[in-house]
Formats: sequence, C-alpha cells, structure tokens
Amino acid sequence: MKHKCIYCGIDKDLSESDIIPDALTNARVLNKNVCRIKHNNRFSDMFESEVIEALGFITNELDIKSSKGKKYAAYDAAITIEGVDYNLKLHGDNEIFNGKVLKSSDNTHMISSYDRALKIAKGESKVEMLDVNMIEIEKKVRINNGIFFEISMYRMLSKIAFEWYCAKNDVSDHYNEFDDIVGFITTGNGINPVSIVQEEALYEMIDQEVNLGSHTLIAFEKHGGEVDVLISLFGLLMYRVVVTKKRPNNCNNNFLYTELRTDSSRKEIIHQSMEEAELKFAQNFAPENFISAGVVNGVTLMAPKNISPVSDMVLYPILFNVVQYLSSVNEDAMEPNPKINKIFLERLKNITQASTLQKKSIKRFVNETFYDGHERIVLNPYTSNKKAIVMFYAVYLIGISKEEILDDKILQKILKEGLTCSANGDFIVDDDTENRLKSIMMKNENYSEILEIGAAKVMNWKN
Ligand SMILES: [Zn+2]
Repeated sequence: MKHKCIYCGIDKDLSESDIIPDALTNARVLNKNVCRIKHNNRFSDMFESEVIEALGFITNELDIKSSKGKKYAAYDAAITIEGVDYNLKLHGDNEIFNGKVLKSSDNTHMISSYDRALKIAKGESKVEMLDVNMIEIEKKVRINNGIFFEISMYRMLSKIAFEWYCAKNDVSDHYNEFDDIVGFITTGNGINPVSIVQEEALYEMIDQEVNLGSHTLIAFEKHGGEVDVLISLFGLLMYRVVVTKKRPNNCNNNFLYTELRTDSSRKEIIHQSMEEAELKFAQNFAPENFISAGVVNGVTLMAPKNISPVSDMVLYPILFNVVQYLSSVNEDAMEPNPKINKIFLERLKNITQASTLQKKSIKRFVNETFYDGHERIVLNPYTSNKKAIVMFYAVYLIGISKEEILDDKILQKILKEGLTCSANGDFIVDDDTENRLKSIMMKNENYSEILEIGAAKVMNWKN
C-alpha cells in the first residue's frame, strides 16, 4: 500500500515529522507520513517557532536543546548587579560575565573585562573594579506564561496529539474523521479541540510515575467513539485534545501511553482498549502465572513467573484511574483562571529549583563554567543560585572521589553517597540546602582545586 500524507492524502515527497518539535524534547518521536513542505516545514513558521522561542527559559532549565543546533535557546533576563539593572539575552546560567560588554538598561553603566573597559572609557578614572565573586547579583526572568494559552500553543498541541495517535495506529492516509483537527492545525480556524485540565489530583497522580520535566501523552477512547489525547507538557500543564469525535474503523490502538524524559529515555504502553489493558494487568495475578517460592510456617509462598517491572505495577492502576475519570468527567477550562495559574506556578517553581543530575546536565555545566582560560572558581557567599550550587557540589564530589574514570553508574554512586537524591536523580533545593552545600565546600580551603579536578574528570568523560 502506498503511504500518503495524514493531512492531505498526497503520496509524493513524504517526510519524517518531529511530532514534538526537536527543540522541545531530547527524546524525538516521528511520524513518517507527513508531506514535506505544506504539512511539515510550514508548521514551524506558522506556530511552532513562536512556542519554542517563548519556552526558551524552560528548555534551558531542563537542559533540552535541538539536536540540530549547538546552542541552547536564548531567553530574556533582567540582572541587577550592585543595584544597577541590565537586560540580557542568556543561553545559560553561567555566562553573564563571559567577556561580553554589558550595558545597563538606563545606559549609564557598562561592565566588561578590565582591559576592554579601559579602552571603552578611555581612561582609568572612569573605570571601577568589580570582584564578581563578591558582588550581589539578582537575576529575574519574566516567564511568558501567556504562551500556554495562545492559539499557537493550541495548534501545536493539536498537531502533537494528531500525529502521535496516527503514528501509534499506523495511519498512512488522510481520513475524514480527522477533518476538524486537521482544519484547526493547518488554519487555526474552527473549533479549538484543546482544553486545560484543572483537577490538581490528576496532576498528583501522574507525578507519582513520571520524571521531572517529561512530556507525557495518554490516548483513550470514550463511549461513542471520541478519541482524546492528554498531553502533559514538561509536567507544567495538562491539556486534553479531542482528536476525533468518531474513531476511524482501522485505528485499533486506543489505550496508549508515552513518557518522553529529559534524559532522552522513554516509556511506552500500547493496548487496543482499556479493557484489554485491564485484562493483561489482571493476568499478572492469575494463579497459573505464579510458582511456589517456598514454604514458611506451613504457608506456601507464591511469586509471579514473569515479574513485570515494578513501575508498571504502579503505572497501570494510575492510568486506569486517570482515564476512567477523564472519560466520564469534563471539568476542563478553556482559558487560564486562578486555579490553573496556581497549578502552573507551583510546578514551574519545582522545575527551577530542581537539578536533574545526569551526564548531560553536568557536562553542560562544566563546559560553560570551566572553559579554557576561565578564572579560578571562588564561590560567592552573597549570591543565590540554587542550580549552580548543586552542580558545583556535584563537581566537588567528583573531584574528591577516588574514581578517576566516570561512567553513568559511577556518577550515580558518587552522587548517592554525597547527596540524598530521589530515585531518578531529581534533587529539589531550598535555601537551607543551598547554604549547607555552599558551606561544606567553602570550609575546605582547597575547594577551588578540587573543583578543577572534578571538572577535568567530567571533561574527560567520553560520549
Ligand atoms: Zn500534506
């Protein structure tokens, strides 16, 4: 059978579409039945690039970047240095003083290297020395949370839900059942199929099984044949997308789950229906699947023959609950409201205060901080930067460790001994923790050298 575009049905010049734009995930998912120009490339200008740009700060915090680009997305930040405001475009956290000339917002002050400042000022009298390790720096980032409720966001979410559902069902042609959503994605007109989930309990349920910053997608079929896709975007907000009011006959997989993690790993579950998933799940507990594990005090203990991973045993019941609830109740909001804002801000705070300690994030930190010719690291007791302190502390632990060659296992061992992380390596930092980690390092008079040793080990860590 010939493959055709799921949007328009033409069979020429098909291409692989990134279901979620490449710049918004480290774990790519593709749909191969999308025509190259009209329904792949053009979406980028139509709505995707606006969303990507507005989410620059969040992708930076989660160490997510496009596989094609070298740099992380830029975002606007207002920095106050010794009481003077500077507006900057940043690509990362640690590049405020990287030789660039900073101009204050009111154009009365400039910051640069001493030599450069002398040249610009044409004389010593106008130049003042700043010790970057002792000054107070305050960084403020304005989060464009409006983007979460823009038409461009709704079009992108519709595209993700539609292309993902089609990919999981091997759809390779345009079906009339998808006319409504295709119309909305391609023109922005028609009924918006996206609504915002505002039950906090649902967020908490998904959180139990999903990593920090993951995208999670869940598809389910309602009575009457409507197919909905739930999208949890970075775990910040959950949206429901009505993909079709009437499921096409040959779309057979209607209980779907995908988690795309920031470390590029993923988890997938595919079943035809919730009933089938429940049956499979129940079979795990059927007597014929158990073998005797021994007799204790006259009682025979039974253990499952094929022990499914523990996480599935927890994940399935959560999915059943979430899907059952969303199939029968729709209390979704169409616009932001105080309830949704509260959910959003709490989750955003979690992301900005959590460090995901993994190879990618630590390598990035070391490359941006311990670049060739960088100055000796002196921790600034007056500035708060929770993420950077956790990273410095991780490098410090690597530096004092006897391990010379790093790999993922050794890294996790070093971190586990030095920090109390959650199982997946997320580490949420409050003020007390930050101060505690800082003072442990600063009490060691050789900490700058230890940091250099740790950084060298990270840099030698081959990909
Ligand atoms: Zn097309």
